[in-house]
Amino acid sequence: MEGVNTIVSKAVGGGANESLIINAIRRRGPISRVDIAKLTGLTPPTVTNISSKLIENGLIHEYMVGEYSGGRRPVLLKVHSEIANMIIVDIRSKEMIGYLINGGLEIKEEICHDIQHLKEEKILSFLENTIAQCYASEYGKLALAIGIIVRGPVMSKEGLSLFSPSAGWRNVPLKYLVEKQFQLPVFVENDMRAMALGAYHYGPYRDIKNAVFLGVGGGIGSGIILNGELYRGLGDSAGEIGHTVVDVHGPLCSCGNYGCLEAMASESALVNNMVQSITDGECSAVSEMVKGNLDAIRPKHIYAAAEEGDPLSIRTLQQIAQYIGMGAANIINIFNPQLVLIGGGIVKGRRFMEETIMQVIKERALASCYSLTRIEFSSEGRQDALKGIVDVVMEGIYLR
Ligand SMILES: [Zn+2]
Repeated sequence: MEGVNTIVSKAVGGGANESLIINAIRRRGPISRVDIAKLTGLTPPTVTNISSKLIENGLIHEYMVGEYSGGRRPVLLKVHSEIANMIIVDIRSKEMIGYLINGGLEIKEEICHDIQHLKEEKILSFLENTIAQCYASEYGKLALAIGIIVRGPVMSKEGLSLFSPSAGWRNVPLKYLVEKQFQLPVFVENDMRAMALGAYHYGPYRDIKNAVFLGVGGGIGSGIILNGELYRGLGDSAGEIGHTVVDVHGPLCSCGNYGCLEAMASESALVNNMVQSITDGECSAVSEMVKGNLDAIRPKHIYAAAEEGDPLSIRTLQQIAQYIGMGAANIINIFNPQLVLIGGGIVKGRRFMEETIMQVIKERALASCYSLTRIEFSSEGRQDALKGIVDVVMEGIYLR
């Protein structure tokens, strides 16, 4: 363990060029020195010098011989997986998951707590307990930093959770509270932006410079990548596509407004629409699944019933798909991105929604904006969010 301690202490603080190189190796490794130079714009001698120093310090290592394409085989570089250990807590709507993870994205421990029906104070005390539990382990004591993923708008720099519908809180200074308690640097990011960062830096989309990641789960949000960087906006609130109005006569949204995309197209809207239709007398296999207790209806029942051919479930998913298509069309008209990646729980209903979503985008987005945009679906949202927050923490601690 002492070896690890030495490595992690060296990971904190470095020059700008060192940081560029470490980030390139972390995100793209195993990668050759030549490719690092191309990616960072640094000269090959600078890359060679700095990587030698980083190898000496044990932060990176030569990994394997790359693909042979004639001439000399390039040696690839990879970060030492123990480059930094951190505690990550993902506060979801129904559960809180604590991870002990390292900069090489290896999960060492995972703790899950049910937080359904809990509100503000209780959730904060669970957060404290989850971090304390992680911290108590042998590995946890080596943690250099803490990362927190939370739903709803977040001011990342301040670590302020502005509003979380599931936790029922407003303006909670998560960074301040947790730093005070644990004396470690804390980084807070919203789930959608963490997902966008993870999918962008570690997924198959890393060569795309302009992309919007539209997450549709219990709420709706997005992460906007412009010119290869996450766009945060002036008040750190960019990407709140879920609270753009798509129907002036629409239902009340969790934000207090009416007719927001989130109120029309999220998984919560999916459940509400299903409950309403059954209350209005329509028949559905979903009623039998929950034995008539409509409060027990969850999105999973609707996906399962749709798979079994339940007409009302399929129709409800298609209604939701119309609004998701509208949201995606609005994104395309504003940003004209190379990619719109739709993720979140709703992807489980993709089979019944994709055609409608694509049709609506075609009808509603301007052809000049839409024609070159790729629309894709991802079911890797949670893993992407985890990779994204690790990335935020790594950037944060290395640049301190
Ligand atoms: Zn809203």
